[in-house]
Amino acid sequence: MNNIAEQLNAAYHNIAENCHKYGRDPASVRLIAVSKTKPAAAISEAYLSGQRQFGENYPQELLSKAAELTELPELEWHFIGPLQSNKTRLVAEHASWVHSIDRLKIAERLSAQRPVDLGPLQVLLQINISNEASKAGISAAELPELAAAVAKLPLLQLRGLMAIPAPGDSERAFAEMQQLSKSLQQQHPGATELSMGMSDDWPLALQYGATMIRLGTAIFGARTYEKNE
Ligand SMILES: *Cc1c(COP(=O)(O)O)cnc(C)c1O
Repeated sequence: MNNIAEQLNAAYHNIAENCHKYGRDPASVRLIAVSKTKPAAAISEAYLSGQRQFGENYPQELLSKAAELTELPELEWHFIGPLQSNKTRLVAEHASWVHSIDRLKIAERLSAQRPVDLGPLQVLLQINISNEASKAGISAAELPELAAAVAKLPLLQLRGLMAIPAPGDSERAFAEMQQLSKSLQQQHPGATELSMGMSDDWPLALQYGATMIRLGTAIFGARTYEKNE
């Protein structure tokens, strides 16, 4: 845990280098530090070295870390995991972003439960880009209808798309996501964000237009346990 600052520095440096290589503006790419299973102390350490955006997968874990870290005023939570109806309130009250919207019912609950004084929740629609039976997300064909419905919700702001490709399918998947993002923006010009790329495939995601890269292992080291809800 002692080299979180170094890992962050290295990641930002690598992102800038890859942006240069692919003709991208580094300011157009955000690094989301995925802190699931890691203690609040690790998040504080990253915050002290300048990181502000953190990703969590489990509503309860997000809640307890948010409660522990109230003294970090600029910390911004990105909820990136599967979301059940009975947990939407926790997320609506604590997250700034949700990357994993794949059902209208969940989106409607988030909008209804979002405290007005926090302003709209920023949301991405999750695409099951490798068509895996076990994975969350909608198909590309379902995108226009869900996007139109989510865009109408008063306390949500539709900002773009997210995907987690199957192992070995990254390049094809990222290329298809880039096309989907372009067609989504024709109907929804504000939906410019593309959340894709993790510790082992993010340079490729960046090449295909990723604007949000979600790094866990590369920042905080290997996870020693995996939680299931
Ligand atoms: C865990 C997780 C990550 C981070 O994965 P690493 O391989 O550790 O970088 C990114 N996105 C999602 C949705 C995750 O669940």
